[in-house]
Amino acid sequence: MTMPLYVQGAWFLAAALFIFGLKGMSSPATARKGIVVAGYGMLLAIAATFLIPGLQNLALMALALALGGAAAWISGKRVKMTDMPQMVAIYNGMGGGAAAAIAAIEFAKGQSHSTATIVLAVMGAVIGAVSFTGSCVAWAKLQGVLKKTRRLPAQNVVNVALAGIALALGVTMISMAPAPAELIVAFFVVALLLGFVVTLPIGGADMPVVISLFNAFTGLAVGFEGYVLGNPALIIAGIVVGAAGTLLTQLMARAMNRPISNILFTPLVASEPGAAISGSMKELSALDAAAMMRYAGKVIIVPGYGMAVAHAQHKVWEMTSILEEAGVTVKFAIHPVAGRMPGHMNVLLAEAGVPYDKIFDLEEINGEFAQADVALIIGANDVVNPSARTDKSSPIYGMPILNADLAQNVIVIKRGKGTGYSGVENALFYTDNCRMLYGDAQPMAGEIIQHLKTMG
Ligand code: NDP
Repeated sequence: MTMPLYVQGAWFLAAALFIFGLKGMSSPATARKGIVVAGYGMLLAIAATFLIPGLQNLALMALALALGGAAAWISGKRVKMTDMPQMVAIYNGMGGGAAAAIAAIEFAKGQSHSTATIVLAVMGAVIGAVSFTGSCVAWAKLQGVLKKTRRLPAQNVVNVALAGIALALGVTMISMAPAPAELIVAFFVVALLLGFVVTLPIGGADMPVVISLFNAFTGLAVGFEGYVLGNPALIIAGIVVGAAGTLLTQLMARAMNRPISNILFTPLVASEPGAAISGSMKELSALDAAAMMRYAGKVIIVPGYGMAVAHAQHKVWEMTSILEEAGVTVKFAIHPVAGRMPGHMNVLLAEAGVPYDKIFDLEEINGEFAQADVALIIGANDVVNPSARTDKSSPIYGMPILNADLAQNVIVIKRGKGTGYSGVENALFYTDNCRMLYGDAQPMAGEIIQHLKTMG
């Protein structure tokens, strides 16, 4: 059907708003505005869709929008910052699932389409279905519902076999179009199973890259189905999400030193007991920590997931300001997978008002640790674990880490002897130059501030 000009115009404007929104999201300073702009784009695209002449089931559409919108509004208001990654994962999955559902309905209608359209519909359906079940597994893992990482015997053979069957069924559907119902159902069951089986063994440090990969998948699937429906807003939104997700996936995989193929086919799992760690953990008091930093020339702060849990970023910035007033140079070192979502630490530090010129990426700052008097680690663990460099049996072996262990002194704020996300012991905490300051990051930063204030 040819769309009226006003619908096409509104969709085009919506697509432009998506692109401006994404541009805004490229910097923490404009990210909030970017999200709002993209949101207006989405509102416009939905409103324009209702204006398509001859559209049926308007009441059902309105009901679906009301239910979905209410669920998203409530969960968005309630979600804790530390639970954002699972929320992103599940919303990614919803997008992929929606794209697959569009394809399913088009197949079920049995209308005649051009071969190109059917090929794109099938490709979008596989990618969307994989992204849906894969993202559900990622959600379950991050939410703690699925605690164990399970690997099937001959996992890679099963992965390849399922992908092969999905492909064969897809090709049959294209050649038979319109395909019979049983074939359509079998195709979707295999595609959904593929996403589930591929994601099940992935865990630990690979999770952020996988979530980003499914984000890219969802974008692609939406773009393909946009072509099937002849909807330019969907095509452009899908391409934008697909391209941004692909770039992010590449950047994160490179930061983790793990090719995507390894992430999917050789998941990180400890193959043997880790190398024995010698030494002991040594405690220090908040007063000693304050004194060490107050009389230091240079302090590098490494924030991690624990800082997010403790909401300690404002106190950390207050502490930084006091140290800087006393003439200490303070820098922040951010690992690409610190926290539980890409850019997690940058967002928190920006929210607390830390200027961007004090925040450094891994490659920028790693050479400076050796000249730092103190590396202050606040709720970080995996991202400073030196066994990633040396211990081949470690599940995080090969991941580049922040070289905090090279600083003259290392102070670690954490609550106890808990391990990080990957579940492995951290050899850094046992080294001679490392001291532990046990406690929740926020009150501990508060105590340090109190002591710093008395030191003048
Ligand atoms: P980790 O998860 O390795 O370690 C966090 C540490 O914080 C724990 O050892 C914990 O120790 C401590 N902690 C928890 N709560 C508090 C608190 N209230 N106050 C003080 N300390 C606290 O965090 P990192 O940031 O170092 O590493 C991130 C990990 O998460 C990586 O393995 C990464 O691959 C993974 N990941 C990252 C994602 C991303 O996109 N960034 C997404 C999914 C996973 P204790 O219990 O003793 O306090």
